[in-house]
Amino acid sequence: MASVELVAVGTELLLGQLTDTNTPYVAARLAEVGIDVRGTHAVGDNRERIAATFRDVLMRRDGAIVTGGLGPTIDDVTKEAVCDALGLGVELYEPALRQMEGFFAQIGREMRPNNRKQAELPSGSRPMNNPFGTAPGFIAFAGDERFVACMPGVPHEMKPMLANELVPFLIERYDLRESIHTRVLHTIGIGESEIDHRIADIFAMSENPKIAVLAHGSRADVKIMAKSRTAGEAETMIAPLQREIEQRLAGFIYGADAATPESSVHALLQRRSWMAATAESVTGGRVAAALTGVPGSSQSFAGGIVAYDNAVKTGALGVDAALIERDGAVSESVALAMARGARERLHAQIAVATTGIAGPSGGSPKKPVGLVWFAVSDADGFAGAWQFQFRGERKTVQSRATTYALGLLWRHLT
Ligand code: ATP
Repeated sequence: MASVELVAVGTELLLGQLTDTNTPYVAARLAEVGIDVRGTHAVGDNRERIAATFRDVLMRRDGAIVTGGLGPTIDDVTKEAVCDALGLGVELYEPALRQMEGFFAQIGREMRPNNRKQAELPSGSRPMNNPFGTAPGFIAFAGDERFVACMPGVPHEMKPMLANELVPFLIERYDLRESIHTRVLHTIGIGESEIDHRIADIFAMSENPKIAVLAHGSRADVKIMAKSRTAGEAETMIAPLQREIEQRLAGFIYGADAATPESSVHALLQRRSWMAATAESVTGGRVAAALTGVPGSSQSFAGGIVAYDNAVKTGALGVDAALIERDGAVSESVALAMARGARERLHAQIAVATTGIAGPSGGSPKKPVGLVWFAVSDADGFAGAWQFQFRGERKTVQSRATTYALGLLWRHLT
């Protein structure tokens, strides 16, 4: 199997001024086609250190895959470092020069000598087209065995170059006929350890397809990864395993791949031709924001009321002030009254309500920070309330409570 290391060039990366998103992106795409990524590096804009990194990587691996430092400015030295490391000179790559001349003519600016420099590539390189910028990428060779592939740092230039130029090159060079196909099953309302417990035996048995469980806050994903030659073959390998996992986690899987809790809620609402409404205190409109983020949501979302102040709970949602006085705003009875109020006043068939203490202050021994009451009320006469104690800072409580509320809606509609 071909093995490479990734090198992200840029001093900004080392100063903590820029988050390196290129490396995980490139790593994921390479893994899909069966290239083994054995290491990653971040290097500043320093010619010697970049060259030393390339030499080092090529002692161990088939190639180095590099992003950044190809621009026209004085601190863009990736190309020079490649020449140093591989003992190569440069040669002018005419098509890139033509493309650049065209680009400058189009924007009505004069081309500078440093732009011309961008059309020079390490001798013997294979150029990689850059339709979205001026600097071409290239693959430079150290003999027949090893290579250094350089792409621009700008993500929207790098991504198409990776897909259209570098990946096809690697597939051909290493005769990569198998790629990884993934199915992600999204769960809600079940912990990672419970998932592990339920599927431990399948997990232990599975090699291809392989299984992984990944937790994200209050949700967890089960990933099924199949290595195969075609998507059809992958589907045949994934399907039986998917069915088995779906059975074992029945009632907790809200969707696969691109599905989100909110898109799954919308799909279920549409099936019933129902409209949903929200009454939110602690989540401050986040549940409504998630629901309206789904395209076409106007067909199944009526609206929401952010009832933060008690006066809004009583005035806009019709919650009895005596109830708030007796049980407190964060209580089962108030959550239920909020949900009913939103459903009736917004003419919806189902409503969800949230009321809780996001913190950091406002907690008490009886009602600690992170306590949230949720309620669902529907047109068939259902009314239910749940409480959950979240941990974490304010934002975490709010975002987890949002997911929890969407999960309750989903669960109730299934
Ligand atoms: P170009 O040739 O198109 O100018 P370049 O190869 O010179 O690109 P850099 O100058 O290294 O690229 O970076 C340009 C910009 O690209 C950075 O300011 C940053 O916004 C983005 N960028 C560079 N490297 C990364 C990275 N590893 N992750 C995310 N963004 C990056």
